[in-house]
Amino acid sequence: MVNRSRPSRSAEPAGAGRRPRESAAARAIRAASIANRLEKAFPEAVCSLDFTSPFQLLIATILSAQCTDKRVNMVTGDLFSRWPTAEALAGAQPADLERVIRSTGFYRAKAKNILGCCRALVERYGGEVPVSMPDLVTLPGVGRKTANVVLGSGFGIAEGVVVDTHVGRISRRLGLTRQQDAVRAERDLIKALPAEHWIGFSHRLIELGRGACAARRPDCGRCPLADLCPRVGVVPAGTKRRA
Ligand code: SF4
Repeated sequence: MVNRSRPSRSAEPAGAGRRPRESAAARAIRAASIANRLEKAFPEAVCSLDFTSPFQLLIATILSAQCTDKRVNMVTGDLFSRWPTAEALAGAQPADLERVIRSTGFYRAKAKNILGCCRALVERYGGEVPVSMPDLVTLPGVGRKTANVVLGSGFGIAEGVVVDTHVGRISRRLGLTRQQDAVRAERDLIKALPAEHWIGFSHRLIELGRGACAARRPDCGRCPLADLCPRVGVVPAGTKRRA
């Protein structure tokens, strides 16, 4: 969308408005600077779901769809004390499981996926979580995003970049992707980012989204990435969009 109420050029960040097309090589250099800056700004950023094993992380991530990690953490303590393993959870009564996870929303679909996922773990993987992207994405309720969370934060394997709504939004503002679709956005991020940043990048971007780069009103003036960000789609403070 064209921002017709663009302020004078002197008020814009470097690269805002009509920008010359950035080459893939230039984007990769800028992406590496962004990743390094984020690492310095948020050195402690980690997955905010509570878990003690890849299995717990897998189930918690399925529950986190359309729900905050904080809310998921409020139910997983009870969930894993009732059903501590894939075998135990595979045998849960659907109504009992639904009752426990109800507050996370979409609880019927989530219960169905969790039961299907645990049965598949028991039948095909001896109750263990498989350590490969192709195997993980065959499990009910598991797509690339969930598989990336489990591989990255559960096993420390950098197979890809977790793209949730916050990571997608901020990556587009940063000009690292134009894609709305998470899988396509991840492809762009993988191309641009050094592999050693694939796991931490998402955690740090989520921290940035909780602070300066909020969904509704980014506060670019206090952002550690201000000089590296073209602010794609961001309306400068004090201007109004025309109807
Ligand atoms: S807060 Fe502003 S400068 Fe920082 S990443 Fe978001 S849009 Fe870019």
